[in-house]
Amino acid sequence: MKRYLTVLAAVWFLVGCGGMGVDRSDDLIVIDAGHGGHDGGAVCAGKCEKDAVLQIVKELKDAFEDEGYRVYLTRGSDRFLTLGERTRIADKLNAKVFISIHANAIADKSKFEKIEGIETYFLQKTRDARSQRIAAKENAAVLQGADALSKNVIIDSVLNGPKIIESNKLAIDVQRNIMQNVKKEYPDTRNGGAKPAPFYVLVGASRPSILVETGYITNTKERQRLFDRRYQQSLAQGIVKGVDRYLDNRKKELGF
Ligand SMILES: [Zn+2]
Repeated sequence: MKRYLTVLAAVWFLVGCGGMGVDRSDDLIVIDAGHGGHDGGAVCAGKCEKDAVLQIVKELKDAFEDEGYRVYLTRGSDRFLTLGERTRIADKLNAKVFISIHANAIADKSKFEKIEGIETYFLQKTRDARSQRIAAKENAAVLQGADALSKNVIIDSVLNGPKIIESNKLAIDVQRNIMQNVKKEYPDTRNGGAKPAPFYVLVGASRPSILVETGYITNTKERQRLFDRRYQQSLAQGIVKGVDRYLDNRKKELGF
């Protein structure tokens, strides 16, 4: 009987602790599935980036809601949104963070099975050629019609704000927690790190904003994983843990 009561007390304690966790109900997360509609994003072996990321954001929505967050998806179906529409939503709803979900690709077929891994980007100009190439690929659809001058005006206007530093911290926390979580089940996953890149989808959002490249659709192993529910859920849980960590640290900095 005593043992039974001890177990009961332990269960009560654990359940109680879960219930008394940090209240996230004030924290709205805007999640953006890249591409959509006529813009398929990267395509390989008949599989489209736009479809993988839509599945991932749905898992992400569930994972955030399980932790008590409020969530808004920029798209919950296969439709195209302009750059302005994606980030305006985050501003209008006063989101805590903006997370854009993508899948990566490379052009060189001879490297399809060599290049793999997960990367998290925050908005910043960079001289790194690889990051520039990845950004150029993702920017292609959203920048139709904008000339080079206005592109530079847009990006320069946001580079000095405190949100760049915050976005950098968010990217580091999210990338670290994705890797810790995903490697438990997929230990061979390559850590591509948290990096700066000039992604225009992040330009308009006046809040900490990141873009997660969840794997390479051009790599056979990762393409299969990107459409695998277990991998999607593992990624999603890692992203949520990263956002938890980021927000907890900000609250500590502010003395809460
Ligand atoms: Zn993309």
